[in-house]
Amino acid sequence: MGIALLFKNNLAGLSPYYRALNDLVSFSGEKLILSSGYTSVQDNTLFNNINRGFRNEHNSELITIAGNFKPYCSCTKSSNQGCHFDKYGDFILSLNFQCLSNQKRFLIDRYGNWHAKISMKIRNNFPIAMVIGSTNLSRTALGLIPGRGSHEADVLIWRDSYCSFTNSFSDLKEGDYWRFSPYYQGQEEELLTNQYKYLQDYINNNQKHTNALELY
Ligand SMILES: [Zn+2]
Repeated sequence: MGIALLFKNNLAGLSPYYRALNDLVSFSGEKLILSSGYTSVQDNTLFNNINRGFRNEHNSELITIAGNFKPYCSCTKSSNQGCHFDKYGDFILSLNFQCLSNQKRFLIDRYGNWHAKISMKIRNNFPIAMVIGSTNLSRTALGLIPGRGSHEADVLIWRDSYCSFTNSFSDLKEGDYWRFSPYYQGQEEELLTNQYKYLQDYINNNQKHTNALELY
């Protein structure tokens, strides 16, 4: 098993999460689940990789889940970019048009509560890779609009004997990810201490944040 923590520290380029997601969707397997709070990505690279993953499957299924927004159009006059509901519509219509899976299910949270980001690839009814985290499937979060978006953290878990993320990590800077694979004694401790170090570095750097109490 492999575990990696992926950090989007740099807003200039593609996020480490998006590199890993493109790998994950391209692994062969009959089912792909893409789940996100918001969705505004329409990227042919992603769609082509999804199709690669379904290429040799005869009964493939694509499932999307989203909906941290009202399940109807809530556009306001002040926003001319479309609401999250509209963007999810654009996302699933593009997937429906471009993706070759035999079955497709595009889900939306009925109550506007879905904010979980969990994407998973399944082969022979067996999950082989999963990525969980803060990154939405939005263009800014994925790093498709340079200089925009936020700092994000995601956890990638995969089965070493079924797939590899080597290409995703090969040219990343140290600090953009922490990789723990294969399992070794003390792995959890290192995972926790490194994460703690990053948080402490942030907490101790007064140039990165301000005291919220002073704002009220
Ligand atoms: Zn709308």
